[in-house]
Amino acid sequence: PVRKKDVLHLMARHLPKRTVQVLRDLGGAGDSLELPVYAVGGFVRDLLLGNENSDIDVSVEGDGIFFAETFAARYGCRVKSHIKFGTAVIVFPDGFKIDVASTRLEYYETPGALPTVERSSLKMDLYRRDFTINTLAIRLNSADFALLIDYFGAYRDLQEKSIRVLHNLSFVEDPTRVFRAIRFEHRLNFAIARHTENLIKNAIKMGFLEKVGGRRLLNELMQIFKHSDPIGAIQRMAGFGLLRFIHPDLVLTTENLRVIEEAKKVITWFDLLYLGQRVENWVVYLLALTSSLSDDRFWKMCTRLAVSEHYREKLIELRIHGEQVLEVMERRVAQHEPVVPSEIYFWLAGLTPELLLYIMAKSGNDDVKKFVSLYVTKLQHVASSITGNDLKALGLPVGPRYRKILDRVLAARLNGEVLTREEELQLATREIDQV
Ligand code: ATP
Repeated sequence: PVRKKDVLHLMARHLPKRTVQVLRDLGGAGDSLELPVYAVGGFVRDLLLGNENSDIDVSVEGDGIFFAETFAARYGCRVKSHIKFGTAVIVFPDGFKIDVASTRLEYYETPGALPTVERSSLKMDLYRRDFTINTLAIRLNSADFALLIDYFGAYRDLQEKSIRVLHNLSFVEDPTRVFRAIRFEHRLNFAIARHTENLIKNAIKMGFLEKVGGRRLLNELMQIFKHSDPIGAIQRMAGFGLLRFIHPDLVLTTENLRVIEEAKKVITWFDLLYLGQRVENWVVYLLALTSSLSDDRFWKMCTRLAVSEHYREKLIELRIHGEQVLEVMERRVAQHEPVVPSEIYFWLAGLTPELLLYIMAKSGNDDVKKFVSLYVTKLQHVASSITGNDLKALGLPVGPRYRKILDRVLAARLNGEVLTREEELQLATREIDQV
């Protein structure tokens, strides 16, 4: 049903001119080597859906590395190749990248041995993929440029908005596909097909999910949490009983669902502020989802997810620090006495944006939220103009009083007690004399 003409039309409509030219050039390089070349996978899926996707994956029926090197030589690109996997990345001078895979692998098991050659067709190659919607290919060679190849009914599934595996053992072969199914369902606003859903339930029941390595699980979770609104996907994971593979005690309660929903609101708010500070949304969502776990269990979860030791310690430290600050703020609010800006500043200074957002999401208290919001929008940018050198010039002997006096001046600045450098210096002088 999809003709070349339609694909050309989609390309003209959804792809930058340059991308279309690169696709033609790839086909041209294939022509001269007499190798069939295809664009495959997510790129084709997204083209047919009219979604933007600049990650071009190319499959060559033959030696993909040789193909990549030939293409690169012709167009002044660099190539990074992985001989063992028969894959290469073509890197254009401006950094634009194209991934190339071979359907024919040729590698040396040991030095001096004969090469092992694995031959496979495009169809076999596509058959190894996770879902039908990712098995589409577009031929790039000039004679057949823009010919859509659909071996497994992918086009129908795209139209039906259906996530479907290619065979019954798919989740047994690779259980991480369970998380991928949920991610695609949520991101594309598709539905996992009934039979595929049953296969997921079965794979979970049979214990295959326990075999997923921590690193791969973390990767899939990160991808899910990078979505601007992952709540539907999180609920879906909970519905399948998948959260226990993150930690045996992790469940979705009304309380952590509230924190996750708040997290979404504060992330949106923060993005709209355009402060130029980058926030790793996935960290905020991971903290929110696991906010009910004890420190000890959170640590075990990080180990399970193979978070690097360095990052794990940082994450735990942050989390503990965040909880402490939250407690201090909530206690202070309960006293019903006015809170001055400098107090807020010293509570929150040095916390990462992720943690600030987590604190806002976790606290059910409006005053606490206002404090964090004031810090993020105003207080964190306040600085006093005097430095240690100024104190030295005023004759203060080097020692611990430096920090104290500088903090005192900064506090005065934050609270509006001093407005100019002059006033700051006067205050510093008074402080120095006060012994
Ligand atoms: P995205 O837009 O999220 O990058 P994508 O389809 O490009 O979507 P990737 O995770 O980059 O997703 O994977 C690239 C391709 O590799 C996919 O089209 C998919 O078919 C295939 N793939 C990735 N992971 C698996 C897996 N675990 N099992 C089978 N195929 C996979």
